[in-house]
Amino acid sequence: QKAEWATLKTAKTVTADGKHFTIAANIGTPKDLDGVLANGAEAIGLYRSEFLYMDSAELPTEDDQFEAYKQVLETMSPKQVVVRTMDIGGDKHLPYLPLPEEQNPFLGYRAIRISLDRDDIFRTQLRALLRASAFGKLGIMFPMIATVPEFEAAKAIFLEEKAKLIADGVKVADDIELGMMMEIPAAAVLADQFAKHVDFFSIGTNDLIQYTMAADRGNEHVSYLYQPYNPSILRLVKHVIDSAHAEGKWAGMCGEAAGDPIMVPLLLGMGLDEYSMSATSVLKVRSLMKKLSTADMKALADKAITESVTNEDNQKLVAEYTK
Ligand code: PEP
Ligand code: MG
Repeated sequence: QKAEWATLKTAKTVTADGKHFTIAANIGTPKDLDGVLANGAEAIGLYRSEFLYMDSAELPTEDDQFEAYKQVLETMSPKQVVVRTMDIGGDKHLPYLPLPEEQNPFLGYRAIRISLDRDDIFRTQLRALLRASAFGKLGIMFPMIATVPEFEAAKAIFLEEKAKLIADGVKVADDIELGMMMEIPAAAVLADQFAKHVDFFSIGTNDLIQYTMAADRGNEHVSYLYQPYNPSILRLVKHVIDSAHAEGKWAGMCGEAAGDPIMVPLLLGMGLDEYSMSATSVLKVRSLMKKLSTADMKALADKAITESVTNEDNQKLVAEYTK
């Protein structure tokens, strides 16, 4: 198995029936790039930029951020790097940026909600990203988008900073893709409307499952409700993918489920374009996809969505098929 994986390091990701999909990696800091290169990921599908803020004693400057983004973009070029803007709040805190005490931090002041409120912080991040865009192929996505106006507000700020930099003679790429995390059920339900505004979706199953099942992702007492294969979750995922495709956009996934061998056959069947996971899962998933045919997986996914009732039904369905 190790020998087979070694041959897959430089290979493209191709299914048994010859379809190509992108396997990307999730990173938290530029230090993670070694693992990404060693495992042959085809892109960075999620760069969790909040680690820049968490690893710092104060708000990282525009130049600090620029250096980090540039390093990742240059190293990966010409492969795409999708940077997610700051996702602070929930369980992630910054000692130098006190947030209000909240009854429900996961339902509170978090991610894009902070960025739109504190647009001084947001603009600094976007300027650093725009400057770095000249050094590779950049995608930017916004976390925890619930409504179309939130996405539009974030995009407007991005375009303002872009125009300012260009007016100042700074080199900025003109092919930056702007997308959003799909991790709030309200957004997933309206994916067809969001799809007209974005360049891509990246499905964040870690939060999408938590919010759809109303089960805290870190609470062991309700962990039985953490059900990636529940048909309710699969229907949302399929709606997001179909909505993207109907507008000629692409759909990826960067939650844990994207690298899960039970989930991957279902995602292939639903036509997910990009699979972003921890670098250590890349070769395992590339090897799995090589054995699967998209036509068969489509039939499997249809069954999982229309006939199954429970998470376990689908676990069995897939295990039976892929064993
Ligand atoms: C997710 O919610 O699935 C996700 C990828 O983001 P995070 O785990 O950082 O919340
Ligand atoms: Mg999330």
